[in-house]
Amino acid sequence: MSIPQTDFLAAEPSLAELLAARPALKMHAQDGLCFENVPLNAIADAFGTPVWVYGAATLRARYGALKSAFAQAGLAPRLHYAVKANDHLAILSLLREQGAGADVVSRGEFLRAQKAGIDPKDIVFSGVGKTAEDLRAALAQNIGQINVESPAELALLSAIAAAMGKTASIVLRMNPDVDAGTHAKITTGRADNKFGVAAHEIPALYAHAATLPGIQPIGLALHIGSQILSPAPYAAAFGKAAALINHLRAAGQTVTTLDLGGGLGVGYRDEPGISLAAFAHTVRRATAELGVSLILEPGRYLAAPAGLLLTSVILEKQNGAKRFCVLDAAMNDLIRPAMYDSYHAILPVSPVDFLAETTAADIVGPVCETGDTFATGRAMPPLRPGARLAILDAGAYGAVMSSTYNARPRAAAVLIDGTPKLITPRQAIEDLWSSEIVP
Ligand SMILES: *Cc1c(COP(=O)(O)O)cnc(C)c1O
Repeated sequence: MSIPQTDFLAAEPSLAELLAARPALKMHAQDGLCFENVPLNAIADAFGTPVWVYGAATLRARYGALKSAFAQAGLAPRLHYAVKANDHLAILSLLREQGAGADVVSRGEFLRAQKAGIDPKDIVFSGVGKTAEDLRAALAQNIGQINVESPAELALLSAIAAAMGKTASIVLRMNPDVDAGTHAKITTGRADNKFGVAAHEIPALYAHAATLPGIQPIGLALHIGSQILSPAPYAAAFGKAAALINHLRAAGQTVTTLDLGGGLGVGYRDEPGISLAAFAHTVRRATAELGVSLILEPGRYLAAPAGLLLTSVILEKQNGAKRFCVLDAAMNDLIRPAMYDSYHAILPVSPVDFLAETTAADIVGPVCETGDTFATGRAMPPLRPGARLAILDAGAYGAVMSSTYNARPRAAAVLIDGTPKLITPRQAIEDLWSSEIVP
């Protein structure tokens, strides 16, 4: 049985509570809603809407908080940002400056990460279906680590590496059969998910890998899912990994690396995200005796609160008893609500709107799908055409998942680093068909 995530949550937070939970956002009496001290109205005036707005200071602060939580636990895991969460070169470059490596799941991401200046030796390649070309490209650039997810992939990689005269440092991705307690579409560590190799099959596969040409097994990886708010599933999964490492070593294998994956959850309402101190403590407890070098692959935790989608109201309409607020952003921009029933906080940008009486409204986009709904029954003030709204915590799994469905061009993107700068121009409508061929 799958329980919609909203069912067990307390009363909806007010607009003021949503704002108070987000230190990078402030409401100014004249300027309205500001993100990292920049009025969102100024960004909308300059660049139009819908527009993605990212905050460099927030991204740096998240990275710093994660690093220091581990330092306080006496640990220094290598942080490999999961590129799929937000693969913009500006975001990757900023994280590279902070010292991040990358976790990639395709050749495109591998090349993107390098384009942003990340050294291939600081890149790990995950994913259940890497092609021969993917593996060849990774080996040609001397990638740091390949996370192997199946016997078939191991055989393919060995053949390619041997033919190229290379040795691939690999870890085997174990499927720990742990339920991360998250949405069904983003749980990845259960036995019936497609990811990884069952724990009981790892010892034989690891021993086999050690005999293969072109392969050097160095450890294990796991990644149990995304938007995980409790350390409990991590403790269970890391405990299984530790037991498996001890088992492998007892059988004479060398294990030097444990890649703990990502999945750290953020507060999308006004709840706190996962406690970094508790998470770091969990990692320490599970791995202290192992003497392995640790890798983390955070994506959402770093990027989600560092971005928002700024949009304008097209119109309001009333269908019977139901109030609809139609935006110029849609599911083609941000698909998370349609795909995962995700909650995103939505705040008015105008200080007058922010303080006005609210009634329940469905906040929707103009796309011809009922699923094009950002929120249902959300407390919102009356909104005039042109009123602006900020859809919050959209920095991860936002722009990367957008499409041009309904022939809607891709939104622009702006990065605030002190001042706002355009980092992606709005796609021109003509670009939608510029690569199409009519025979
Ligand atoms: C998606 C993914 C991550 C990042 O997940 P987040 O929830 O964004 O932290 C890390 N590792 C692997 C293998 C992934 O597939």
